[in-house]
Amino acid sequence: MQNKKARRKLRAALDCTICLDSPASPINRCQNGHIVCGICAGKVGECGVCKTKLQVSVMAERLSRQLDLKCNCPYFESGCVNPVAAADVKDHLAKCYFRDVTCEFAMKQSDWEDVETILHAVVGLLIDTNHDPAKRREALDDYCGRYGGKIPISLRDYPAHLRNVHQIEFHEIVDGKWISMDYLTEMDGARFEASPTPHVNEVMQKNGHIFLFHSCNDAELERNWVTILGDAKEAEKYAFQVEISSLANSGSNMEQSFTIPVLAYHDHTKLSMAEITKNSVVIPACHYAQFGITMDSEPNNCLWLHFEFTIVEKP
Ligand SMILES: [Zn+2]
Ligand SMILES: [Zn+2]
Ligand SMILES: [Zn+2]
Ligand SMILES: [Zn+2]
Repeated sequence: MQNKKARRKLRAALDCTICLDSPASPINRCQNGHIVCGICAGKVGECGVCKTKLQVSVMAERLSRQLDLKCNCPYFESGCVNPVAAADVKDHLAKCYFRDVTCEFAMKQSDWEDVETILHAVVGLLIDTNHDPAKRREALDDYCGRYGGKIPISLRDYPAHLRNVHQIEFHEIVDGKWISMDYLTEMDGARFEASPTPHVNEVMQKNGHIFLFHSCNDAELERNWVTILGDAKEAEKYAFQVEISSLANSGSNMEQSFTIPVLAYHDHTKLSMAEITKNSVVIPACHYAQFGITMDSEPNNCLWLHFEFTIVEKP
């Protein structure tokens, strides 16, 4: 009993004087012994109580491990609700599945040319939003929609951002349901008109999980792959099936089927294009040139193929 009480007191003595939580590593202390956690220390740089210098405390670190202190992940608000060992927060942050994502719709080169417009938008954004997080989010969404800026977005907000800002369609996938889509690709003769920035074609939902269907092409190859907004363990459970065919009225009956693994979103952002290619449905430009058809409504360097796809649970 006495022992339990003592441990509790010791824990309380180690709480961060700024966020009042168990201190995330590296734990700092000031010259007067006030404790500041690693995350707060990164923001304030000095003691919040007495304004003296901070220094990492080896003793506090050791105690934190001994007492097995737990604290909330900084992405708690985004959905990372399981307490993390305070001593391991730094490692956790590097792989936390609720850390911010960068919107896939990266800035296009040509948009940078109008620097004045962009500066205007950014300055306007900072003044207008007046530190209101909701307003700022809205303004950032607007900015991303217009300029495709590389702006961090919380994983939780990303699907809504894709839907509202980039008008990406959402599909609910139940067992046995296939989504039908005709996709066009711009050609430059028998090669693709290269557009090396990846983009998201569709957002799919199954079993409460969100899946993104990505594409990216260079002059020769188009890659199509799928990610889950989740971790590797969740990705393991699913596969993506796709059938690619000529459009019904094309007079040709090409049809190909593929099954590819689903990748974990945050893992895939670190992969090289070569590694992504290994987990993609790869369509060579000559395939479009041979089987794609034009439509009257689009310029005739735009060729269309028909895609049917679904997410399946692995047995
Ligand atoms: Zn703190
Ligand atoms: Zn202090
Ligand atoms: Zn986390
Ligand atoms: Zn965006």
